[in-house]
Amino acid sequence: MNMNASTKSFHGINPLRATINARKFFSINNLGVDNLVQVVLVTQKKRESFLPHTTLDGVVEFIKPIVGAGIPAIKLFTEGVSKRDDGKESVDENNLTNQALRLIRNAFPKLYVMTENCLCPYTTHGSCAVHNRDGHIDAGATADLFVKAALLHAENGADAVGPAAMAEGLVEAVRNGLDTAGYNHIGVVPHLIINSYAYGPFRDLMQTGEGRMHRPSFQVNKNDRKAVMAVVEGFTQEGATAIMFEPGLHINDLIYESSKITNVPLGAFSTSAEYRLIVDNTRSDFPGGDPVLEHCQGIMRSGARFIVTYAAQELATLLSGSR
Ligand SMILES: [Zn+2]
Repeated sequence: MNMNASTKSFHGINPLRATINARKFFSINNLGVDNLVQVVLVTQKKRESFLPHTTLDGVVEFIKPIVGAGIPAIKLFTEGVSKRDDGKESVDENNLTNQALRLIRNAFPKLYVMTENCLCPYTTHGSCAVHNRDGHIDAGATADLFVKAALLHAENGADAVGPAAMAEGLVEAVRNGLDTAGYNHIGVVPHLIINSYAYGPFRDLMQTGEGRMHRPSFQVNKNDRKAVMAVVEGFTQEGATAIMFEPGLHINDLIYESSKITNVPLGAFSTSAEYRLIVDNTRSDFPGGDPVLEHCQGIMRSGARFIVTYAAQELATLLSGSR
């Protein structure tokens, strides 16, 4: 038999990829509509921004097409209305988060609703924590507000709360607080925040301005893999239901490495600046595919199980098309 190089090296099109149904049947499809979480921003009033957002009275209409596209979950962020040093609005049952939750739960009983649980929308200084008179973080007072806010979110219909202060012990405090109150079924999905340029447009829109706190002292150094792994281990030990990395850009290696050391599901929050980068600068230039879709597929391939993104609805439309 003649097994020379020319007959081994070229057979034409691979049968696994030859037709649309072959590609569907044989492929590993690593991103589906079921993995998408749509970001929902609720502000006091409509503002100039490329980020999709809504006011409270429009929130149900805003979410209708998201549910209609088959997206199973949303991540809710709301603006603080009356900022104070002590961040007390976080535990007001009529703050925007709790009002939005009641409207959303009433209109969409089955939608999986994840909240942000943090003080930065509500503090004058923009910090995610309460500070005592000498400027240091008051850990007890901070944890107390986080737990109370989480209980209110649960009471008003959240499926999962998202502690976003990157402070040790908060995940455990919130988990214990929910369990003690009988909310064992409510998830705790902390934000694992890596210091990055990628948050600016969100802060501008949601009025949680940059520079009012020293954020790098909370966030993990993006160049320190071991520090990120330590946070993943810490969140896992504290009882996190899942862990949400942010931003979603430039972190595929960290997701991959994390997936080897924890069994907790990992996800990525594709942030405001990366949405702008990918959508504005590249989308219409490359008709052969979709940059946002490929970006999210890359994150999934790294080991994530869900993607929180402003583009969830657009991605759902793309995913329902042919490949
Ligand atoms: Zn915060």
